[in-house]
Amino acid sequence: MKEDKKDKYISGIYNYCDRWCERCPLTDKCFLYSKEQKRLARHKAKGEDPYDWNIVMQDVKEDFEETLKLIHKKAKEQGIDLTKLPKVEQKEYDPKNHPLMKSANTYMKMAKKLLKKLGEVIDIEGIDLTKRIEIIPSAVSDVGKLRKIAVNYEVISWYHTLILVKIHRALQSKMETEIEADEFAQKDADASAKIAYIGIMKSIKALKVVYDWSDELEDDALTLLVELDKIREGVNKEFPGHHTFKRPGFDDKQIKV
Ligand code: SF4
Repeated sequence: MKEDKKDKYISGIYNYCDRWCERCPLTDKCFLYSKEQKRLARHKAKGEDPYDWNIVMQDVKEDFEETLKLIHKKAKEQGIDLTKLPKVEQKEYDPKNHPLMKSANTYMKMAKKLLKKLGEVIDIEGIDLTKRIEIIPSAVSDVGKLRKIAVNYEVISWYHTLILVKIHRALQSKMETEIEADEFAQKDADASAKIAYIGIMKSIKALKVVYDWSDELEDDALTLLVELDKIREGVNKEFPGHHTFKRPGFDDKQIKV
């Protein structure tokens, strides 16, 4: 990265976020975000759909080739012959049988079902509300309530998969530290656990809103709340370091996410 870019962006910030760029308060500090915006603009200017699968794959390929060139250049500068490097056996760390993984997986599946039902209830309520407003204009005040539910739907939806992904990564890195005493892996475990924990807490808050709002979904929301609380306790037990881990940018005093 060039010097001016170094000052503009927070190094590796995208490794410590929940990848919800639309809601990120630090987009201007994120190199990945800036790169993606440039990619979108480039394709739009050419009249192309930047989300087209072939275009995405082409960009990934070009990115990879560029990275490879850079690695070769750096190696050459340092007199390293990449073809003569000793073969390192890659160890596989698979946490899929860990109880925390099983709980997170169960939660993801249950949340998926709740989201389907909640989406249907929101749609029905929306249609009903439109009719009510025509008859009783003051019912317009209920629009805000429904909007709040829709926002919480998005929160549950965003994190129900991310919690699983981050717990998987945290456990994988922890397994690595247990075998190889790798400092980077320890940091990665705590960071991933912290992101999972934040997702859990936001989901708990959102599920409580759903629980209070809908009699129909009360039982489902409660079951999920119990499951999430179990996961929360599991994360605290497995990764006590996540509480004190400071994410670059996000955990600066003035930023609240
Ligand atoms: S740091 Fe923010 S902008 Fe960058 S990838 Fe993460 S969520 Fe998106």
